Amino acid sequence: MGKILKGATAQETHSAILDLIRSSGTVTRVDLAERSGLTGASISRVVKQLLADGLIVETGLGDPTGGKRATLLQFNPRARHAVGISIDTPSTTYVVTDMSGRVIEQLSSRGTGRDAPATAVRRITAELEDLIVKADIEPATLVGVGVALAGRQGGGGLRLLRTDSSKYAWEPFAVRDTLSAAIDHPIVVENDSTCAAIGEFWAGRIPSANDFATVYMATGFGLGLVTNGDVYRGSSSNVGEIGHMVLDVNGPRCWCGGQGCLEALAAPAAVVKRAEGDPSLAGDLALRGRRTAVRSDFAKIARSAAAGDHRCVRLIEESATYLAKALLSITNLLDLDQIILAGPGFSEAGDIYVRVAVAELNRLSFVRAMHPTRVEQSKLGPSAAALGAASMVLHSQLTPHQKSTRALTR
Ligand SMILES: [Zn+2]
Repeated sequence: MGKILKGATAQETHSAILDLIRSSGTVTRVDLAERSGLTGASISRVVKQLLADGLIVETGLGDPTGGKRATLLQFNPRARHAVGISIDTPSTTYVVTDMSGRVIEQLSSRGTGRDAPATAVRRITAELEDLIVKADIEPATLVGVGVALAGRQGGGGLRLLRTDSSKYAWEPFAVRDTLSAAIDHPIVVENDSTCAAIGEFWAGRIPSANDFATVYMATGFGLGLVTNGDVYRGSSSNVGEIGHMVLDVNGPRCWCGGQGCLEALAAPAAVVKRAEGDPSLAGDLALRGRRTAVRSDFAKIARSAAAGDHRCVRLIEESATYLAKALLSITNLLDLDQIILAGPGFSEAGDIYVRVAVAELNRLSFVRAMHPTRVEQSKLGPSAAALGAASMVLHSQLTPHQKSTRALTR
């Protein structure tokens, strides 16, 4: 902490002390001085400001240590709030959280679909306003809005580029700038897989020294990567496009222009297409078969697999086997401790994906004799990306001293 605060601005110092109080539970001013390396006078000044801002509260007296009993300080999670929005083609998910990441209000609505970008942004803005009213929070306590985007990010303006050149109208479109102009709060934008990884980190499930990846499955696949407690973004925030890792050089064509990509072989649309090849299965599950119904059709197949329907188990295991092969390559490339499977694609049959991946890594990982690579399902549920987006906002308030933090912009 002393090293972190060397050369820090006043705001960074306030944030670091606030983060220290948050992670300590209850703490005295003397403890803070010891742990931060700041003088007692500096701590008193910062604490006075944090109390005035309502970000912390005094909660009684600690144990007597020689002299008088010192006042205990505690983080006040209800002093500020954040919104996370995950925007994807089939659905849009919103969460309002307090500063501890607890969800106060949430909403799922339809995705961008084939709407013109301006129409989608207008609808999202209106839904966001309704949600803030429903959450019954003081607008002044809302720190900002985190936005998790599917698809490719452009440079600088962070645009969402369309994922299918003939069917979506999202390319090129300055999502951040347009939302910024429409929403009266600071916003921060990130790709959805990275948001899911940040969400896991914030939820406190990952020790800070761990190198881990989050595989996010929604329409396709993405990988969020955290090394040494910092998010790895690559040169243009497009890191982790594992959906386009080639697993079969003679495999089916992928919309990206490639052939035999993980996405073309194992994403929900590929699984639904295989299921439709079995008319009796498609009939039994009442698959709708429409492009806009891929997510719900896939959920039906995954649910039946989880319930033991052998035809569906076979389909999900096939998808899981392709994913496990991709995870094996990633593990061999990056030497990871842990892989977390997150996002709506794993909601119904995540156990099957975990089982197949664990078996594959235990059998073939290059480092299997040295250390295990744990694979588990996220506990954040299908809203992992939206929760991660909200936690990015909290990060920006609490930990701007960390490199992984992305600043809020107006
Ligand atoms: Zn591809």
